[in-house]
Amino acid sequence: MTTNDCLFCRIRDGQIPSPKLFEDDVCFAIADIAPQAPTHLLILPKQHIASLDALKGDEEVQIVGHLLAVAARLARAHGFADNGYRAVINCNTHGGQTVFHLHVHLLGGRQMGWPPG
Ligand code: 5GP
Ligand code: ZN
Repeated sequence: MTTNDCLFCRIRDGQIPSPKLFEDDVCFAIADIAPQAPTHLLILPKQHIASLDALKGDEEVQIVGHLLAVAARLARAHGFADNGYRAVINCNTHGGQTVFHLHVHLLGGRQMGWPPG
């Protein structure tokens, strides 16, 4: 896949509109188009990495840690960190991944259930 075929690369490049709610050198955050909680953000690396299963090398592993740290900061900024939230990475078919550009879902503002569907 070239990045031009990738929905989230196209959003990164501004070819598909989706306001960036947070951005730094490594990642950006957008609102999920079909929110599953009162707040449902996606935190994505700027670099195209297809999935958690496709991570290569220490540098890409460190990006995942960064995405999670940003998710925690955004949860705090949105005011639901103390009540709690969920940060999820769906991987491949059984994991429910539908867009193959790595992303962390940050869901907050309601009680979550377990086990997930
Ligand atoms: P996945 O299923 O791969 O874990 O998550 C993909 C997420 O991307 C889904 O929650 C879906 O609602 C969201 N999504 C799909 N298309 C778009 C879009 O065009 N814009 C935004 N902001 N989110 C999208
Ligand atoms: Zn991509």
